[in-house]
Amino acid sequence: MTLDLALYGPPGSGKGTQAERLRDRFGIPHISTGDILRAEIAAKTDLGRQAKAIVDRGDLVSDEIMIPIVKARLAQKDCEPGFILDGFPRTIPQAEGLDRALEEMGRSFDRVIYLEVPVPELVERLSDRWLCPKCGRTYGKRAEAPADGNRCRVDGAELTQREDDRPEAAQRRIDVYLRETLPVLGHYRPVGIVADVDGTGPIDAVTERVLAALGDLIPPSPSGRAEGGRP
Ligand code: ADP
Repeated sequence: MTLDLALYGPPGSGKGTQAERLRDRFGIPHISTGDILRAEIAAKTDLGRQAKAIVDRGDLVSDEIMIPIVKARLAQKDCEPGFILDGFPRTIPQAEGLDRALEEMGRSFDRVIYLEVPVPELVERLSDRWLCPKCGRTYGKRAEAPADGNRCRVDGAELTQREDDRPEAAQRRIDVYLRETLPVLGHYRPVGIVADVDGTGPIDAVTERVLAALGDLIPPSPSGRAEGGRP
């Protein structure tokens, strides 16, 4: 049995946070195309150089570049028991390309989890997201204040913002999401695999809702509660 999942939702909806929790719980890889691109940019590879300006201003990298990257990643051995895609597919051509790739592999999505968060809250969340460049920890100043002078509580490094979380790029990402990405949900709805999950409120509460939306895919424990472990 495999568990092939996609986390879907606007920028700032908490896909990355929830994907990491699912990864730890089910032992399947979290594949974030945003993380893949940021790693390429940091390593200054050819792809990174091409992508940097596009990502920083909040636009999408082309489908011709993204589809082969994800195909190659899904073919790796650690994806055999399943995967959690985060940030892909983001356009209809990406969804079609992915459908073909999965079909060739003899598999298909088990569930697309749609994290719903109202737009005004997204803008607030993105402009309040701060990163420690040293340990990678993220802070939302309203939820958890950093140490004095905007420093990481763990190692004291000065916190920074993602280039594309600055207000102009963040607003652009939300616009691009509404125009290019939201229609992808309509591609999967007729297949009957979309689960709508309320993405507002505490992180733990959202995780509970996500697990409930996967309930029938997770083998029940002897007590009758959803087990959560991999078979
Ligand atoms: P978020 O979902 O919070 O906007 P991500 O970390 O998923 O951020 O992605 C950051 C940026 O990386 C996007 O704004 C876009 O420029 C680029 N990107 C990520 N995934 C894709 C994709 N599937 N297709 C095109 N561009 C992508």
